[in-house]
Amino acid sequence: MTRYIFITGGVVSSLGKGLASAALGALLQARGYSVRLRKLDPYLNVDPGTMSPTQHGEVYVTDDGAETDLDLGHYERFTGVSSRQSDNVTTGRIYQQILAKERRGDYLGRTVQVIPHVTDAIKEFVLNETEGTDFILCEIGGTVGDIESLPFLEAIRQLGNDLPRGQTAYVHATLVPYIAAAGELKTKPTQHSVKELRSIGIQPDVLLCRSDREIPLHEQRKIALFCNVRESAVIQALDCRSIYEVPLAYHAEGFDSEVLKVFGIDDAPPADLTRWREINGRIESPEGTVKIAVVGKYTDLQDAYKSLGEALVHGGLANQVKVELQWIESETFEQPDAVQRLEGVDGILVPGGFGERGAEGKIAAATFARTKNVPYFGICFGMQMAVIEAARNLAGLPGASSTEFGACDDPIVGLMTEWTEGNLLQTRGLDDDKGGTMRLGKYDCQLSTGSKVNAIYANGAAGEAGSGLLISERHRHRYEVNINYRAALEAVGMRFSGLSPDGALPEIVELEGHPWFIGVQFHPELKSKPFEPHPLFASFIAAAVDQMRLV
Ligand code: GLN
Repeated sequence: MTRYIFITGGVVSSLGKGLASAALGALLQARGYSVRLRKLDPYLNVDPGTMSPTQHGEVYVTDDGAETDLDLGHYERFTGVSSRQSDNVTTGRIYQQILAKERRGDYLGRTVQVIPHVTDAIKEFVLNETEGTDFILCEIGGTVGDIESLPFLEAIRQLGNDLPRGQTAYVHATLVPYIAAAGELKTKPTQHSVKELRSIGIQPDVLLCRSDREIPLHEQRKIALFCNVRESAVIQALDCRSIYEVPLAYHAEGFDSEVLKVFGIDDAPPADLTRWREINGRIESPEGTVKIAVVGKYTDLQDAYKSLGEALVHGGLANQVKVELQWIESETFEQPDAVQRLEGVDGILVPGGFGERGAEGKIAAATFARTKNVPYFGICFGMQMAVIEAARNLAGLPGASSTEFGACDDPIVGLMTEWTEGNLLQTRGLDDDKGGTMRLGKYDCQLSTGSKVNAIYANGAAGEAGSGLLISERHRHRYEVNINYRAALEAVGMRFSGLSPDGALPEIVELEGHPWFIGVQFHPELKSKPFEPHPLFASFIAAAVDQMRLV
């Protein structure tokens, strides 16, 4: 039997609802249940793929090529369950389906309405592909009271009646703010938020009360009384030092056992949290600190690089060090000598990105890393910029650039007009739609024998370093390094050590004679987990540790 847990949020956004959902998933897993987490986003975009990272944070890409909300990244990191397209939906996607049906005439002359057609489509999404899973956790994006979320709340309310009794639970995350002038925590925003929820017919079963300090028992009782929930179901959710502490902290407050009780489960196996305790132990006792500069374009909003920041933390865990990140806006390196600011960092990472602004600054960072022997990790755009740098400054091609920025003498990086996906040929043109048309999701990459990356992956996967491994990583790009420049670049020491299996697309480059200089066309950060740090991040941080010892 599959049970459904719906998680809503009230009072303010940024409550950590996604993390709380991921933590609940991990806690149920720790008790031996299978889980799947889903996100329902009320905005009108079909997916976040065309949104700026500064608007919406990172676009998280799944194996099956869906461009999804960054919360799915938390879900995967916490539970290890690979997300799929069927785990994220938006109002835009729901309407896209409904309107396509309407045009086909599938509604047979009926008036198409929010209830039942939109709500039915939402319910279908929730109930789809759930076989064999014990718990489906559905997080509703936005805040209760938003106009956009109404159809979603109505749909989950209906599900409470559609499904057999005892198969649904409603968790509501709220804020209990401290008002300094009064010297008190205030429960009124929570009361109002629950009132709002109840007015649309949803009585929450469990309240997750976020607060920056202990909520006194009498205040918890007050919340229970005014919100019509059991006292034990008022869970205090205090700020944690690290996101990986959240499952432990919420478990200690009884979060998972309270949710299980809603389903009438009183005799669940105890949660085995050994691995969470172990991870937290390691986070709390690093043996040193390495400084990594992340040279990007959306550095004001760290959500834009969520998985990247976490993958670097995981790399630190693999090496028992703390990773101190310096987020640097790449445009600043376009001033003379500004790049000297990188003096003293132990590693430089240039992440994925789009568009010309700041590109020259990223190229300057790559030059610095190459010439000063500082570990360099280029991801997607960061790989493309490193290749342009090598073409200009090592291979003697001063006009080398990317056609993403316009026409140039040497299009080292150009638009991908065709590639193969399984047995399918994908073709693209300059004027194609922008949404959902990149090379997305998992693709294989053949590593070459004797390369550094092959050794790194073989180590991580306990494979054989002798032969070139076939790896699979997630992609999200429209441009590619032009394979025709391979000979010119290899002649100056930039080895193409990973290629698509048909040999057409360069996937990895590495600089010979450099302590650690690797560029990858894919996004390894998307697959890194605290319990399974990605081998490239573990190796990059190990190289940064060596660098730190040198200085
Ligand atoms: N803008 C580049 C491309 O489309 C890089 C994309 C990225 O870094 N994700 O190929």
